[in-house]
Amino acid sequence: KAPGKENCGVRLEVNKGSDLGISGWANGAYFLKKDFPIWCLLASGQWQSGKVHSTSGEDTRVMLSDGKVLTMPMGTVLPANPNILEDTDDLVQLSFLNEPSILHNLCCRYSQSKIYTKAGPVLLAMNPFKGAEVRGNELVTGRGKKPRVSSGIYSWAKDAFIAMMNDEVNQSIIISGESGAGKTQTAKVVVECLTNLGSGSALEEKLRQTHVILEAFGNAKTSKHANSSRFGKLIEIHFKPTGKVCGAKIQTFLLEKMRVIQLARGERSFHVFYQLCAGAPSSLKERLNLKTAREYNYLKQGECLTIGDVDDAQQFHVLMEALDDLQIHKDYQDNAFAVLSAILWLGNISFRVVDDKNHVEVVTDEAVTSAAKLMGCNVQDLISVLSTYRTQAGNDNIVQKSTLPKAIQTRDAMVKFMYSGLFFWLTEQINLSLEVEKRNAGKSICILDICGFESFQKNGFEQFCINYANEKLQQLFYHCAFKLEQEEYAKDGIDWKKVHFEDNQECLNLIERPEGLLALFDEETGSPKATDLTFVDKLKRHFFVNPCFKGKGPGAFTIRHYAGEVLYTTNGFLEKNRDTFHSDSLHLLSSCTCQLLKSFVSNVSKQSGTPANSLYFNHVSDSQKRSISSNFKDQLGRMMQCLETTKPRFICCIKPNSMQCPGVLEKDLVLQQLRCFKIFEILMLSRSGYATRITHQEFVRRYNLLLLKKIVPQDALVTSIAILQHFNIHPDMYQVGYTKLFFRIGQLAALDEAKTRT
Ligand code: ATP
Ligand code: MG
Repeated sequence: KAPGKENCGVRLEVNKGSDLGISGWANGAYFLKKDFPIWCLLASGQWQSGKVHSTSGEDTRVMLSDGKVLTMPMGTVLPANPNILEDTDDLVQLSFLNEPSILHNLCCRYSQSKIYTKAGPVLLAMNPFKGAEVRGNELVTGRGKKPRVSSGIYSWAKDAFIAMMNDEVNQSIIISGESGAGKTQTAKVVVECLTNLGSGSALEEKLRQTHVILEAFGNAKTSKHANSSRFGKLIEIHFKPTGKVCGAKIQTFLLEKMRVIQLARGERSFHVFYQLCAGAPSSLKERLNLKTAREYNYLKQGECLTIGDVDDAQQFHVLMEALDDLQIHKDYQDNAFAVLSAILWLGNISFRVVDDKNHVEVVTDEAVTSAAKLMGCNVQDLISVLSTYRTQAGNDNIVQKSTLPKAIQTRDAMVKFMYSGLFFWLTEQINLSLEVEKRNAGKSICILDICGFESFQKNGFEQFCINYANEKLQQLFYHCAFKLEQEEYAKDGIDWKKVHFEDNQECLNLIERPEGLLALFDEETGSPKATDLTFVDKLKRHFFVNPCFKGKGPGAFTIRHYAGEVLYTTNGFLEKNRDTFHSDSLHLLSSCTCQLLKSFVSNVSKQSGTPANSLYFNHVSDSQKRSISSNFKDQLGRMMQCLETTKPRFICCIKPNSMQCPGVLEKDLVLQQLRCFKIFEILMLSRSGYATRITHQEFVRRYNLLLLKKIVPQDALVTSIAILQHFNIHPDMYQVGYTKLFFRIGQLAALDEAKTRT
């Protein structure tokens, strides 16, 4: 363990080594031989490469790569890997697994634009922050029909495709990483690879247009990322038994509909609003009575109307093209734009307080008339829905004036309903266009891209939902990182003892168990007297000894997530969870002449009847329905069940720097993400049984020259065994699988060393 460092790689290696009875590892200093390549932990906290100069007692004299000679205390020196492994594409191959070695490998690869690296069972994808054309020498050169993507990810996607074909099991590719790490871009690349493998160029083009539409309606600028996905999506690609692509289906979920009505400073609403305002042709502008973005309250509240060099007007044309290509009828398109414009005008409606009880009337101005006209309803009907409510007294309906907060809540709830209805409808339209040929359908591969883990200075209900979803995925990730690992042993006929792995169950228990946070949340949501403050008090009482929970002053608490502690402020939690939507509003929408709005209402009844098969949970919500959070929990549960019926594979996206610029790797930032994904543990576990695995062919290629007596090249397996015997590698230290050799920790290092001597 290096001073001041937790979870440093060498500690685990020492433990594993001593478990295996390799005495050299137990004192952790066997490598301190003259000229052995090493990493030194400098006083600055940085690791620098060098080699051993000499040792005396507890101290080691090292020569750094810049020629300086330093005396280092024990524990500040770790073994480095031979140069040949410097940019290996699978970290499991490294002879020495420690933090500086892994970071060095990723740095070397990143500087050569090699952004994909395997870490045992998972694929790491480092965000290049630059376009495909400069992805460098990893590009598959575009001969034949292969897509212009990196070979690293192409062959990885191909593994999933081949497994689907051979094992006839549905596969899934789960992409995780924090906001801006590159999940959505990676998902696109994977989709491209898979449609290419299934010779589906027409579908590939349609899916490309799908991304354009979903990004316009579902992405927005946040403080972390200018094109952040504010929804999750699962893309299923279906293949015929012959392997040819036969269609696709998209499910969308967890749309952050709050964003339409409320923005943090410096953030924007969904891109499509700005695109429409900037790019609509004049006839459409006139029809929709469209103004510029800065004239709408919903858009200007974030004090950020444009994004750097993004041309919203041009993006609108790209969007129109995509809608046309997916054959979404022009009338429908017009309807959809009318709904958007109606939403913007609804946001401009103002209320006049008329008495000392804060009761309000709607100001009859351009905003309310435009909104009513676009929705296709009577202005007076809209006004009365927004400013009054009905209560039941015996058999009588009493109409009462709303207070200002109630009127605003009614208006905003209607807007959220309209926007999520629109998003749901769009997904349906897209699916019609991508439809799977049911007759010939065989197996499928699905790709999951959800909003990444978020931790801002202030985190609310939305972040809680997003982080909870990420917690669930992470659990699946931990589970599979092991399962897959064990499967690999089984597949190659290796005898292996199961390894226990600690996951994030404790945090999930806090959230999910019967008396857990969600259950208490629901109880408070259903109680009319409860407030955000009583909710936090309740949590504090219940969880005061829970290690994953901490109360933080009035109205706030922290949860210790797998990716770090997040502070949640509960302002608005209960109301957002209730998501009250009055039946009067529903009734008004169903009476509108805008066909699209009408259809949103019938979708609600359709969905509320059959929620079991739907992932579109946050669209369904009215006063009679369950809270958002319990719907969300159920939907997540179903999604996980669905993923568990597939063979999951994981891509962990890593953000190399926080400035989002190409070529820069901030080691601490990368390290922190690697730790969240538990990459070190996963690698260690990969190696704790039979540390390193290498195909017979690769082993022969690397170590054949070590044989003193050159044997005539023959079967790779036979040559491999000859090499092993020649070097007297103890049979306990390796196993010979059907396709690979599996070595105990440190064994390959000994061979590498022998190689440098020959
Ligand atoms: P969020 O969770 O906020 O949606 P994300 O993980 O989906 O974030 P992306 O939108 O995929 O992040 O990527 C962030 C940015 O990084 C992109 O806008 C793009 O500029 C760049 N980027 C990511 N991956 C690649 C790639 N493979 N090639 C080129 N640029 C990329
Ligand atoms: Mg995204």
